[in-house]
Amino acid sequence: MINQFNVLIIEDNEETFNAIKHGLSSADYKVWRVSTGTEALKLIKETYFILVITETHISDMDGIELISRLKKTDYRINVIALTTYSFIDSAIKALKAGAYAYLLKPINTEELQLMLQRAVQNSCLLIQAGKRKFYQDMSILDGLTGIYNHRHFHEMLNWQIAHLRRAPQSFSLFMIDIDSFKKFNDTHGHLEGDKVLHNAAQLFVSSTRENDLVFRYGGEEFAIILPQTPQTQAEVAAERILREVRINLPVTVSIGLATFPDDAQVKADLIKKADTALYRAKSLGADRLCVFSKT
Ligand code: GH3
Ligand code: MG
Ligand code: MG
Repeated sequence: MINQFNVLIIEDNEETFNAIKHGLSSADYKVWRVSTGTEALKLIKETYFILVITETHISDMDGIELISRLKKTDYRINVIALTTYSFIDSAIKALKAGAYAYLLKPINTEELQLMLQRAVQNSCLLIQAGKRKFYQDMSILDGLTGIYNHRHFHEMLNWQIAHLRRAPQSFSLFMIDIDSFKKFNDTHGHLEGDKVLHNAAQLFVSSTRENDLVFRYGGEEFAIILPQTPQTQAEVAAERILREVRINLPVTVSIGLATFPDDAQVKADLIKKADTALYRAKSLGADRLCVFSKT
C-alpha cells in the first residue's frame, strides 16, 4: 500500500513550478523538483514516482525523447507533459511517446488536480495489474476532455467493423464539429475555448447511451460511434444532442451521420461519408444534422 505519493516536476521556470506545487499542496503528495532530463532519469532509478510532470521543451534533451526514456525505465510512471497551446503538436507527440496526458499552460489548478487523481488511480491499477498491456489500455484518453482519444477512435472503429463483418448489424457514426469555434476563441480566449471543449465532451457523453462511444477526433472535432444503431435511430440521437448543445453550451455544433454497412463497408469510407455529411451541414448554415444517404 502506498501512503505518500512521490511526484517529480521537471521545470526550470519558477512561476510554472509554483503553480503546479500550489495545485499539489492540498493532497498527500511529496513534490520533488529537478530542472534537467539527466537529473530526472537518475532520480527515477532510485525512487518510485507515481507521476512525472515535465515540460515538452527542456534544456538538456528533447522532452519527447525524455518521456520515452522515462517510460522505458519504469512503465508504471504516469507522465504529464506541459506545453502551451501554440505547441499543441508537441503535446500530441508526447502522448505518442507514452505520456498519460498533457496540460496546457497556464496551469488550471482544478484540471491539474483532476488529472492527478486519475493518474494516482491509474498507477494503483497498474501496480495491481502489473503488466504493460494494462498501461496501453489506459492510454486511450484525451487529456483535455477526458474522453477517448483519436487513436482509440480508430481502434474501436476497426474493431466494430471487423466484429460486424462476421455478425452483420448496423452501427452509426457521427462526426461533430463545433461551429465558428475560431471566432469563439478569438472573442473569449483559448482557455474559455478549452472549457467549452471539455463541457461539450461531457455533454456528448451524458446525452448518449451508455454503449455509445464518444471520442475527441482532434481540435474541435468529435466522433461518436453508436453500436447497434441504424440510421433512423441515430437521427433521433443526433437531434437530441443538437438540442442539448443549444441549451447548455455557448456554441452550436454540426453533425454528419453515416451508417455501416448501408453507407460504407470499410473504415476510411465510413469516416469520409460522415465527413461529407458534416460538410454539407456546414454549407446549409451549421447547427444541424445532415445524413449522408440524404445528401
Ligand atoms: P466552422 O464552423 O466552419 O467549423 O468554423 P471553425 O472556426 O469552427 O473552424 P476552423 O477549422 O476555422 O477553426 C477551428 C478552431 O478550433 C481553430 C482552433 O483555434 C480551434 N481549436 C482547435 N483545437 C483547440 C483546442 O484544443 N482548444 C481551443 N481553445 N481551441 C481549439
Ligand atoms: Mg473543424
Ligand atoms: Mg469548427
